[in-house]
Amino acid sequence: FLEGKRALVTGSTSGIGLAIARALSAEGAEVILNGFGDEGEVARLCEELGASHSGADLTDAAQIETMMADAGEVDILVNNAGMQHVSPVEDFPVDKWDTIIALNLTAAFHTTRLVVPGMKAKGWGRIINTASAHSKVASPFKSAYNSAKHGLDGFTKTIALELAEHGVTANCISPGYVWTPLVENQIPDTMKARGLTREQVINDILLAKQPTKKFVQPEELGALAVFLCRKEAQNVNGANWSVDGGWTAD
Ligand code: NAD
Repeated sequence: FLEGKRALVTGSTSGIGLAIARALSAEGAEVILNGFGDEGEVARLCEELGASHSGADLTDAAQIETMMADAGEVDILVNNAGMQHVSPVEDFPVDKWDTIIALNLTAAFHTTRLVVPGMKAKGWGRIINTASAHSKVASPFKSAYNSAKHGLDGFTKTIALELAEHGVTANCISPGYVWTPLVENQIPDTMKARGLTREQVINDILLAKQPTKKFVQPEELGALAVFLCRKEAQNVNGANWSVDGGWTAD
């Protein structure tokens, strides 16, 4: 049902973004991938999805502008690229703070401001932002990430109100823990910050938050993104949709 629609999914060479790109492509959307990765692997993904790819670094506004100009008219914008850093606030590297805010929050502002005129002109658009359970609640040692994700929720609600009469919806998808490289890579720093073993981090920190005691699968987020593009979701606007096994119900 997405034939004729163009979807740009940021951070889609891996993890959740890739699963969302695959799900939108399976419904017929023309997909533009973005993100870093091995050249051969990116080429393989482009072939698999019949997609094109932008390697823009989304911490850089100028590179975002180039990516958006190259993309042309985008009907479905998925702001998904993100990164994490785990550290006590007093030791939090200042450059990491700046990078996380730039990638996890400011990039969504730039892509959005650049797609909105086209969506308004067409009277149809979908903006889907990958936030996090950490857009609703906090965990210690993730000050930059939690700040950016709470900010992304506020940004999404704001544009949802601004665009409500233009056939454009804006929503957040907020996963709990999903088994992707982003989660795997934070395990060593969490072990260090909390003095725990790998197994303790997985069971006592990560899965302890999720009442289902299961990692969310990226495909579940792909399916939700597809739903948000459906006509039946035209009144789902400004929502922050949890997929966290009940974490934020607590
Ligand atoms: P991932 O590390 O598997 O993928 C991140 C993607 O972003 C990759 O494609 C990477 O190349 C790209 N990227 C990184 N830096 C970039 C930059 N400067 N410019 C452009 N692209 C860049 O991570 P993931 O787990 O799939 O996370 C995707 C999103 O989901 C993030 O916003 C993350 O905060 C959010 N999220 C993840 C989880 C989880 O448990 N994995 C939970 C909640 C929210």
